[in-house]
Amino acid sequence: MQPLTNRSKPVQTREMTFLEKLYLPAIWTGMVITLKHFFMRKATVRYPEVKREFSATFRGKHVLKRDDQGAERCTACGLCAVACPAEAITMVAAERKPGEEKLYKEEKYAAVYDINMLRCIFCGFCEEACPKEAIFLTPETIPSMYERSDFIYHKDRLVESMDKRIDISKRQEKKLAVNN
Ligand code: SF4
Ligand code: SF4
Repeated sequence: MQPLTNRSKPVQTREMTFLEKLYLPAIWTGMVITLKHFFMRKATVRYPEVKREFSATFRGKHVLKRDDQGAERCTACGLCAVACPAEAITMVAAERKPGEEKLYKEEKYAAVYDINMLRCIFCGFCEEACPKEAIFLTPETIPSMYERSDFIYHKDRLVESMDKRIDISKRQEKKLAVNN
C-alpha cells in the first residue's frame, strides 16, 4: 500500500547492550529530569487560594453600568442583542414612569435583561455595540454551578451596585481607541 507520507520509519528490534540491561543510565536520566523540574518555576498555582493575574484584555462577566447618580444607563435599544453572535441576550423594554428619573437615565429602560452565560462566548461585541456605555465585560469569572438555569444572569446579578462600583475605565479607554 502507498504510504500517505514519507515520515514513517520501520521499527528495528535489536539486542540491548549490557548497560541498557542494567537500566541504571535510564534511571539516572529520569532522576536528573525530575530534579531539574523540582527546582524550576511551577506552571501551576494553588487555586483558589492563589489566583493568576488576568491580562488587561480579559473578558469575563458582564456588568450593566449605572451613571454617577445611580440611574441605569441601558435604554433597551437592543443593539447589544443584535450584535451578539451567540444570541445570549434577551431583554424586554419598558417606558419610564414619572418619578423614576433617578432609577433610569432615559425614557426607555430594560425591565428584563438576561444573559445566558452558557451561550455567551465572551467576544465583547455587546460592549462594542452599546451606544450608551451601559454594558462592559469585567475581569470577574463565572463561577461553576450545578443547575443550567443558574447560568442565566438576570438584572439582579448584572446591574452594578452603587456600593461596589466596578472600574471599567481601562475598557472604556480601549473602546474609545477602537471607535476613533
Ligand atoms: S460577550 Fe459576545 S457572546 Fe457574550 S453576550 Fe456579549 S456579544 Fe453575546
Ligand atoms: S446595553 Fe447598551 S446596547 Fe444593550 S440595550 Fe442597553 S443601551 Fe442598548
